[in-house]
This record gives sequence, C-alpha cells and structure tokens, in this order.
Amino acid sequence: MSKSLDDLLQDLAIANRILVNEGVLDGFGHISLRHPERADRFFIARSMAPGLVCADDLLQVDLEGAVHDERGRRTYVERFIHSAIYAARPDVHSVVHSHSPSIIPFGVTGAKLRPICHMSGFLGATTPVYEIRHSAGESTDLLISSQALGRSLAQVLGQASVALMRGHGSVTVGHSIEQAVFRAIYTEKSAHLQMQAMRLGEINFLTEGEAQATSAMNDTHLQRPWEMWKRQALKTWD
Ligand code: MN
Repeated sequence: MSKSLDDLLQDLAIANRILVNEGVLDGFGHISLRHPERADRFFIARSMAPGLVCADDLLQVDLEGAVHDERGRRTYVERFIHSAIYAARPDVHSVVHSHSPSIIPFGVTGAKLRPICHMSGFLGATTPVYEIRHSAGESTDLLISSQALGRSLAQVLGQASVALMRGHGSVTVGHSIEQAVFRAIYTEKSAHLQMQAMRLGEINFLTEGEAQATSAMNDTHLQRPWEMWKRQALKTWD
C-alpha cells in the first residue's frame, strides 16, 4: 500500500530533522522529494534551517527550478541541485544536499571516497567529484545557483548515488526518502571511518561485487534504521 501525500510530506519534514540529528545537515543543506503524482515537480522546504522544518513549510518546485507556491514563499538558492538531478534521473525520487564535514577533505585532496564497509556499498567503485571551476570559472561563490550549474553537477553525478562538490559538500540521491537519508548518513560515517583508516595503513576496500551485494542487501532493510531515526526525531520535536 502506498503512502498518502500527507504522510509523505510528514516523512519529508521528519527527514530534515533526522539529518540534523545525525550530523549530516546543520543550519544549512536540504532534502527534497519528487511529487508522487507528477514527476515534473518536487517538494522542498521554504528557505529555512532544516532542523526547524514542518510539513507546512514544504513547497513545490518544477524541474527548471521555478517555485510554484500560492503563498509566494521562497526556497533555497541551491534548489537547482534538485531540479537538474530530477530532470536527468527518472529513477531518483529524493535528493539530499549537505555540507557534512567528513566529506569535505575528499573533495579537495584527490583522495577517493570508496566503500570501506558493508554499510557504504552504495558508494560503488568510486565517488565522482564535481569541480565548479570547470563550468563557471575561478571566482564563484561555489553555490549551484542556476539550472545550468545544476545540469553540470547532474552530469558529473551520472548514475552514481553520491557526488562530492569540491570545497562545498555533497549530493546524495535515492529512490525514496528512506534510501536517500540512509545514504546521506552512511556517506558521512564512511568518510569519517576512511580518514581514520588512512592513518593506520593501506585500506582493503570492498570489491565492486561486494559493494553491489551489500548495497542490495541494505536496501531490503531501510525501514529498520528509519523507524529508529524517526522516533528519535519526533522526541525532540518542539
Ligand atoms: Mn550548499
């Protein structure tokens, strides 16, 4: 049985709180959900801190990044991350953009973020890094503030689950809110573990086959951590 739109929007609000609790989002960053009834729209919060988002704060944006809100509210400058990825990837139904800290070092050093344990198999063989200088020169504010920049990011993401954004953060995609949240949380955790392991010696990463198999296995268990994260988020809801 599929969820009602109201339940999905409540999940999207809760996902904002979860990602703050788990150290992925802070006062910045966002998560969106493709509209379940019209593929050319997605839901995202109005321009506000993710830790404060309620279902009533969600508004609709189209796949060119234009806001459609009868209350005339504004959303994030970087909504184009979401619009361009939904346009390029019909399989994607939820997108997280964050500045989570452990990912930043991998975007700026050339060290590859790779699956180090069975919880991060979704990273695949390697994680692409988006370099905004290639599309917009050397004096940008690093933000994805137009559909053209969004398209160049979506191109670098390709069919991957995660792309890093040099000196800025990352984008994580999923076929559901639960999967996008799971991946965003475990991308941050995996990056942290990889930095610790790099100090000890050469790392024995998952093979491509192990990455695929562990990712497929974890996809059958997305509800387990989701229910826990959700309960924790609801406890701290004011
Ligand atoms: Mn950003």
